[in-house]
Amino acid sequence: MARIVMKFGGTSMAGTERIRRVARIVQRQQAAGHEVAVVVSAMAGETDRLVNFCREANPLYDPAEYDVVVASGEQVTSGLLAMHLQALGCSARSWLGWQVPIKTDDAHAKARIEDIDADALIASMASGEIAVIPGFQGVSPAGRVTTLGRGGSDTSAVAVAAAVNADRCDIYTDVDGVYTTDPRIVAKARKLKNVTYEEMLELASVGSKVLQTRSVSLAMKEGVRVQVLSSFIDDDAPAADTIPGTMIVSDEELEGLDMERQLITGIAADKNEAKITLTRIADRPGAVAAIFGPLAAANINVDMIIQNIAKDRGETDVTFTVPISDLARAQALLEERKDTIGYYRMLSNGKVAKISVVGVGMRSHAGVAATMFRALADRGINIQAITTSEIKVSVLIDEDETELAVRVLHTAYELDGE
Ligand code: ADP
Ligand code: ASP
Ligand code: MG
Repeated sequence: MARIVMKFGGTSMAGTERIRRVARIVQRQQAAGHEVAVVVSAMAGETDRLVNFCREANPLYDPAEYDVVVASGEQVTSGLLAMHLQALGCSARSWLGWQVPIKTDDAHAKARIEDIDADALIASMASGEIAVIPGFQGVSPAGRVTTLGRGGSDTSAVAVAAAVNADRCDIYTDVDGVYTTDPRIVAKARKLKNVTYEEMLELASVGSKVLQTRSVSLAMKEGVRVQVLSSFIDDDAPAADTIPGTMIVSDEELEGLDMERQLITGIAADKNEAKITLTRIADRPGAVAAIFGPLAAANINVDMIIQNIAKDRGETDVTFTVPISDLARAQALLEERKDTIGYYRMLSNGKVAKISVVGVGMRSHAGVAATMFRALADRGINIQAITTSEIKVSVLIDEDETELAVRVLHTAYELDGE
């Protein structure tokens, strides 16, 4: 007997028929002799709809009230799933964030889970009752409803799995695993049997939204076994225990599993960045600090940075990227400080995309970046900025060339499947 946390995403919970199918999958898991908790998302599209109501009410809405509104989508699906399970003859009940309780900080709309008091949950699961928990929500120290940021139900599921000491956290979604790239963009993408925590963390952080980034770092820290698999399965599909999806594994585990691994594990694209260039900045100590200090103070995350070599006049251009949602704020802030920073012109471009290739194989192999640059050059795709980490290379290109670049690289690294 194992203890398993199952998470179902928005597409899997969209409507009566789909929730009924989810209930059957959960029932099967319990009938196999396991203790089960289920974490659910709101129906697909519902959170977007609720966010819009907030914006219409007041563009400068109170984040605490925003949380009250947007957390409601998951309240609905958790209650409905409990009803469907009861209709199948299972004992089941919902546990809202404040009832568990899932304690978070008070950073409304992007709260972090601090602690889950799991005693009552564990007792209920042990008695044979299926616990249904709305994802995405928690409760602040002041007792108010909080939410964890978009895509946060993945993080709720991993946090619950850690708190109840689950044997596995199964993330059921609308694709049957983690692929070499988004299978909705590249038809030749291949499903990966295993991917390491570190690779998944990089892939999520550079745009593979199949898992929320924070859920992966939490799983890595807490040692939670995470599997990604499809909820669109028939009653006679193989049991989740046979690992039909993608398993997130440690580096050591991977070595034992997969000796013949490709150099590159996956490719991701992110259209949510914007590029800013400040020209003719003085090439002296403190000049870049004058740019990035104020951005940091305003909580604007800077991702890629390039500083050109100084020209004859002792001046240099600095280019960097920020989230597109922060572009207007960043521009206003830099405009205000034009004299203190001492730049000539500010140029910006929101029509850029960041394309990243990720793989632990990069640690021991040279030439990964060179292959990327050559493949893009052969198709006439211009690179505007570059960053690297130990297991990742990212480039910034024109947004219109996103799909082409992902496909070209997928072929260049020999990732194409049948
Ligand atoms: P859920 O509602 O279940 O949380 P999401 O829409 O958040 O589902 O995430 C699943 C989606 O992630 C897939 O439909 C797919 O388009 C996208 N995706 C992006 N990159 C990948 C990848 N490398 N492998 C699989 N899916 C990916
Ligand atoms: N419903 C929330 C969202 O759409 C959380 C989630 O589904 O993970 O962002
Ligand atoms: Mg998701």
